[in-house]
Amino acid sequence: IFYEITLALLRIIFRYIFVNKTHIFIINIVGDYFFIIGVNMCGIIGYIGKNVEENLFEGLKRLEYRGYDSAGMTVMRNGNFDTYKSVGEVDNLKAKLKFNEEFGYGIAHTRWATHGKITIENCHPHFSSNGNIAIVHNGIIDNFEDLKIQLQAKDKCFVSQTDSEVVAKLLDKLNIN
Ligand code: GLU
Repeated sequence: IFYEITLALLRIIFRYIFVNKTHIFIINIVGDYFFIIGVNMCGIIGYIGKNVEENLFEGLKRLEYRGYDSAGMTVMRNGNFDTYKSVGEVDNLKAKLKFNEEFGYGIAHTRWATHGKITIENCHPHFSSNGNIAIVHNGIIDNFEDLKIQLQAKDKCFVSQTDSEVVAKLLDKLNIN
């Protein structure tokens, strides 16, 4: 049994990723299973399947304990984005949601404002200029001012004061249609 346990332990690979003070442990038991364990993970959730709005909302409710000041969600269904944003409690978002049972996918976010006031415009998701890419982000982009100046010189219009929006505008370069 000792041999078995030692072998099992040896087969476990620990990787430690440090992103913006966010700690994520990925435990990979070779061949069979892997688990992602987040410690201090941020207020982001994604979902693919039926009842997207409902499931994303439930996810945001479970993340509520982390503290936040506003929330947002974007759902892709039949080639269209539906976006909902609200300040204050996650329940304020619920009042705006158009629940739909059909298959789709989406991302949702609870925001803890670091750059820009607590407003609807600053709620995530943020969008690329062509409107084809929606992003949510937690943490801080240290060089966002430099990036924003460069992007504005290329006629990129920003609708928020967040650092996060630069990521969405940078992704325009990918030309995803
Ligand atoms: N820096 C971003 C903002 O101010 C994300 C904040 C967060 O971690 O929620 O919108």
